[in-house]
Amino acid sequence: EVITVQELANRMAEKGVALVKVLMGMGVMATINEVLDQDTAQLVVEEFGHKPKRVLDSDVEIGISGAEDDETDLASRAPVVTVMGHVDHGKTSLLDALRKANVVSGEAGGITQHIGAYQVEVSGQKITFLDTPGHAAFTEMRARGASVTDICIVVVAADDGVMPQTKEAIAHAKAAGVPLIIAINKMDREGANPDRVRQELLQEEVVVESFSGDVQEVEISALTGLGLDNLKEQILLQAELLELKANPSRAANGVVVEAKLDKGRGSVTTTLIQKGTVKIGDIFVAGAEWGRVRALVNDKGQQVKEAGPSVPVEVLGAGGVPSAGDDFAVVSNEARAREIVDYRQEQIKKKRALAAAGPKTMEAMFTQLKESGETQSFQVVLKADVQGSVEAITAALEKAGNDDIACRVLHGAVGGITESDITLANASDAMVIGFNVRPNKQARESAESLGTAMKFYSVIYDLIDDVKAAMAGQLGPEF
Ligand code: GDP
Repeated sequence: EVITVQELANRMAEKGVALVKVLMGMGVMATINEVLDQDTAQLVVEEFGHKPKRVLDSDVEIGISGAEDDETDLASRAPVVTVMGHVDHGKTSLLDALRKANVVSGEAGGITQHIGAYQVEVSGQKITFLDTPGHAAFTEMRARGASVTDICIVVVAADDGVMPQTKEAIAHAKAAGVPLIIAINKMDREGANPDRVRQELLQEEVVVESFSGDVQEVEISALTGLGLDNLKEQILLQAELLELKANPSRAANGVVVEAKLDKGRGSVTTTLIQKGTVKIGDIFVAGAEWGRVRALVNDKGQQVKEAGPSVPVEVLGAGGVPSAGDDFAVVSNEARAREIVDYRQEQIKKKRALAAAGPKTMEAMFTQLKESGETQSFQVVLKADVQGSVEAITAALEKAGNDDIACRVLHGAVGGITESDITLANASDAMVIGFNVRPNKQARESAESLGTAMKFYSVIYDLIDDVKAAMAGQLGPEF
């Protein structure tokens, strides 16, 4: 595969003449339309300070997400928020309440449609909410390499307190490095006890602001609307600290949040644009599908001509139906789109074959860790039968680390191994360890299909010994 100077420039979001100059500096006399070979292209990319990423084996490029943007091209963008929490604590009610409040004050006739994400406006500033509550969806997306969420709201019912899925939500958000806002919900209820919630959060190492910590908390009622304005303000406050920015003037990139086949409209791909601006007529790739943008529909059901960063929009025109979590990217032409899609479909086949070959071993995980040279910690999702074991094992594992590699328990909790544990482990390249507990059917199936490493113990000493041995590279491949 070859690439022209102009095309390479486009993908890096650089000017063609700038590339020609660099090439001249390298002793290559080239015009804009000159075709470059792979190695030269790679040198040029590096010369511009970009990291070349081979999306196709035979091709050099910066990934179809394109080059990093120049600081001067960046404009601030709306925060993208996910709502998580224990079942029945009010996630759906909160998302509905925020959406409805927006329609009342919003544009004429604009009843918000359910497209997978929506935006609300607060004193001229926008917030984007992902409409699928829960950490399972969040972590599944992350497992597929999509980090869309800037802020996680963890809803805790004031009359129920911190529950198992609250803990999971916190672990998932922390593993992703996404800041939390605690929404203490159902404050209208008689048994509401927000201080108990704050107290219980301490055990999860979440110290809220009113306890002099750094995690924002807001008392709300999704039912009466109490505190919702405050919640929105806290989101904007947090967003300001994060200094969220994106370049709106480039080929669009985003993530698929929802996709379906609609009788009248064909393939409908709700995309959250992350950078750039998507326009009607653009050629795009979404996961292993591609198409030309036939129409764009916003969260109010209105047709729009374009959509920029942090804006959720329905994209019509994909040839097939991609999956939630797939990346979305506008590419230069149809041939390019086909090429990427062919390659990806091939990759999917390979991956399936690999997963069918069985789960990863602990040994393989360590080898991978060493080779990647990136993560210097061995990560564990730990489930045990009693709290005492969770604590003892966590402490022992964290001590088991050595100078080269640390051992980190991403999530430790009482109970059987669930699918959510597997997704978390998969997204974080972690291993799942069960102490006197087993996975349920879904978890087992999920671990098998993803190839997640999982091991069970009933003696703490054995567990710690294995981890230490694996760290020292002493375990046989059968482990
Ligand atoms: P989810 O499972 O977290 O999405 O929870 P839902 O939003 O479905 O809420 C569960 C139940 O709690 C529903 O019956 C809601 O009406 C109720 N609920 C949610 N928020 C509030 C609230 O602020 N106050 C009261 N009293 N009930 C609420």
